[in-house]
Amino acid sequence: MPAVDHVIVDTIPSVLKPRTLYLCLEHDVVVHLCMCGCSAKVVTPLGPAEWSVSYDENTVSLRPSIGNGALACRSHYWITRSDVRWLPQITEREQRRAYARDERDLLAQLERDRRWWRRLVAQLSKRWRSVRGGWSR
Ligand SMILES: [Zn+2]
Repeated sequence: MPAVDHVIVDTIPSVLKPRTLYLCLEHDVVVHLCMCGCSAKVVTPLGPAEWSVSYDENTVSLRPSIGNGALACRSHYWITRSDVRWLPQITEREQRRAYARDERDLLAQLERDRRWWRRLVAQLSKRWRSVRGGWSR
């Protein structure tokens, strides 16, 4: 029996079982109860600057590590192939640094998205111009 179970759900149930990852892929989020047993709900959004989940029939992995610096337990662990590997507790300083890093990553991601959009719009409008040019000739 693996240490951590996983289920794929459409919506996150209101009552969660311990040691279970709820994968809500439609909303790009994974929810579980803190592995230390404190039963706090841990929400990990999925995305390029956030977490990524991989799974097969029997195992699940969530990357990067889950640092619950905002919870009273301050637990910190990896979930790799349904195994919980513990890391030292998160200190307040690390938590502050993590927040700053998250913000930076998200801003960088937004900037990348924006650039991608601008490129797309530029390409489309160029194509549109050339199509119109072709018609007028
Ligand atoms: Zn905990």
